[in-house]
Amino acid sequence: MSSATLIDRFGRRIEYLRLSVTDRCDLRCVYCIPEGFKDFEEPAHWLTFDELERLLGLFARLGLKRVRFTGGEPLLRRNVTELARRVASLPGIEDLSLSTNATQLAPHAEALKAAGVTRLNVSLDSLDAERVARINGRPVLGQVLAGLEAGRAAGFAPIKINMVAMQENVDEIDRMVEYCIDRGFILRLIELMPMGDTARKMGYVDLQPIKEQLRRRFGLVDALLPGGGPARYLATPDRRFTVGFITPISQHFCDTCNRVRLTVDGVLHLCLGQEARVEFRPLLRGGASDAEIVETIRHAIDMKPERHEFRDAPEKVLRFMNMTGG
Ligand code: SAM
Repeated sequence: MSSATLIDRFGRRIEYLRLSVTDRCDLRCVYCIPEGFKDFEEPAHWLTFDELERLLGLFARLGLKRVRFTGGEPLLRRNVTELARRVASLPGIEDLSLSTNATQLAPHAEALKAAGVTRLNVSLDSLDAERVARINGRPVLGQVLAGLEAGRAAGFAPIKINMVAMQENVDEIDRMVEYCIDRGFILRLIELMPMGDTARKMGYVDLQPIKEQLRRRFGLVDALLPGGGPARYLATPDRRFTVGFITPISQHFCDTCNRVRLTVDGVLHLCLGQEARVEFRPLLRGGASDAEIVETIRHAIDMKPERHEFRDAPEKVLRFMNMTGG
């Protein structure tokens, strides 16, 4: 079979895939799935574990090294631990991580760790119970904090806290910093991306001034973290605290983008902020050979856009984040 690299037209090596294992979620964050939303993918269209294992196995033969389960809320997919075990065992896959809202993490943490998930990203927009209920649509702060403690006890490292910066929670950033220092978590502050109507209506908080304030207040210096993600990191000189900034709007990071995203129904999105996509379900269910699927993967990578246009064309992406996976 062809050589083990996937390089796009702009010379970027694609070795990271985010898999949305379900588009459903138990939360209704103000910037994501709207209350009352019903247009979820039909279960008959969800790629099965066998289909996912085959497809990701072929990606891995072409140089895929890292996979992250996301969603929707990945822990809502039944037997997700079994899927984790299968993906983590694929030859070539070096790293399996999970993005979760942690509401269901406590009962699953140990099994996920044993299955081969090593790293966790947990969404936490506030440490105030009422705010969480308002921003995330459900009163779940207690459950999320319990999930985080279970994740820590199970030995996940690092655990990163994803906080989307909004007018409603910027006053809490210092408190979140203290919380992360206490627990040994890495904080990541995220600019709201204009995905779907919900987020577009809210506007974003520019993280550049906040970054400079934190730099001064905590004496932070530039830091590098392995993992190839989009965040730019700062840390205290003793590395006791690290904070990352994901700034798709104020400073995009497309030139180093190494990732693609696969939806639960088998659509490969080549860019979070563009419509370029390729469907794999018809191939997987239509008897395509491995060689045909490999050729389609290569063709898809050739379609990867140079960059998103969240700033210049914010009206462009109609889907919500749960569909593509954050
Ligand atoms: N439910 C899982 C979780 O909470 O991590 C995985 C999916 S969720 C869509 C992934 C991340 O995307 C979350 O941290 C969420 O806050 C973030 N997110 C959702 N919509 C967003 C938007 N419009 N802009 C920026 N981040 C967004």
